[in-house]
Amino acid sequence: MSQPLLLNLRDLACGFHAQRVVQGLNLHLNQGDIGCLLGPSGCGKTTTLRAIAGFEAVLEGEIQLAGEVISSPGFTLAPEKRRIGMVFQDYALFPHLSVAQNIAFGIRQHPDQARITAELLELVKLGALGNRYPHELSGGQQQRVALARALAPEPRLLLLDEPFSNLDGELRRRLSHEVRDILKARGTSAILVTHDQEEAFAVSDHIGVFHEGRLQQWDTPYNLYHEPLTPFVASFIGQGYFIRGQLLSPDSVQTELGLIRGNRAYTWPIGSAVDVLLRPDDIVYAPDSPLKALIVGKTFLGAATLYRLQLPTGSQLESIFPSHADHLPGHQVGIRVAADHLVVFPVPGSVAAQLNLGESGVRRYSTTT
Ligand code: ATP
Repeated sequence: MSQPLLLNLRDLACGFHAQRVVQGLNLHLNQGDIGCLLGPSGCGKTTTLRAIAGFEAVLEGEIQLAGEVISSPGFTLAPEKRRIGMVFQDYALFPHLSVAQNIAFGIRQHPDQARITAELLELVKLGALGNRYPHELSGGQQQRVALARALAPEPRLLLLDEPFSNLDGELRRRLSHEVRDILKARGTSAILVTHDQEEAFAVSDHIGVFHEGRLQQWDTPYNLYHEPLTPFVASFIGQGYFIRGQLLSPDSVQTELGLIRGNRAYTWPIGSAVDVLLRPDDIVYAPDSPLKALIVGKTFLGAATLYRLQLPTGSQLESIFPSHADHLPGHQVGIRVAADHLVVFPVPGSVAAQLNLGESGVRRYSTTT
């Protein structure tokens, strides 16, 4: 059963000195869900987060929280009245307060302050460190304290701005999973800002991909990877290459790899020139296949190997081979297309690209919607 709507951004524009940094932004988050704003540097993620927090005014549209308008042009409900918590990249802990005092800071008047603080200390696995001071903690521990402090007043929504970017690889991965578990255990709704898609995938139920101030797609991680709606999302999420093809029917494309058929129907005219997205998991190792590709690059990943392949026309692809399929660059290998779905975009400048069908031109079969 789906949860009630919590956050609703409607036709939002925000920016500085009337210059729109973000515009036409529509997205919503249900109670208990974790959303993420993902995109390259400068695309407007932090500005959007600050508008939700009430630190930036809205130029157009509105922001609703639990059905109440909290921002609209000329009206900004004060940040402290929103019951929205924040976790920052630099933790922003109070250096002169102990871990327990930091966590209790926002609930000093609460009669159950001691119990709530003890529970949160356990939840973030710092039960034994309540009397330490921030400078006596590692970066990961400090970020856990910041999370517990933000959770203590039971915010209606928690905003996390690049919360793991000061941490290194493995810790970052571990903490992002832990944070998801903690938020889910408490049923806390949250919006995370990051430019790291691995982090976005690890934490979020829904991800919004931003490009130059526009939300390109607000969707599940699965759909962003397998059903990107714009060429930008297709290129930005995951790895993949485009190869040229020609639409033979609404759900099949003729390419130099043969006929590729999917479970989506495209509305471009039959015969349109299209670019077909192929991810490394769409091309499989098939030693006996008559379809051959030249190995031009190789990255050993341990459990698998990522090969960069070149086709006779010069088009390049990537493919994940089992680790034991060990070949050298310069060799030809047999491959097979294993895509059961098809993601195509009209070739820029083609007739199809000029038709006003929306960038993806997708008509989904009823069974897949
Ligand atoms: P990053 O990942 O680098 O933090 P971001 O996607 O969060 O990027 P924003 O911080 O929202 O991007 O910035 C979006 C745009 O707004 C940028 O071009 C930035 O230069 C501009 N900008 C941000 N803050 C201000 C400000 N206070 N005054 C004027 N322009 C600003």
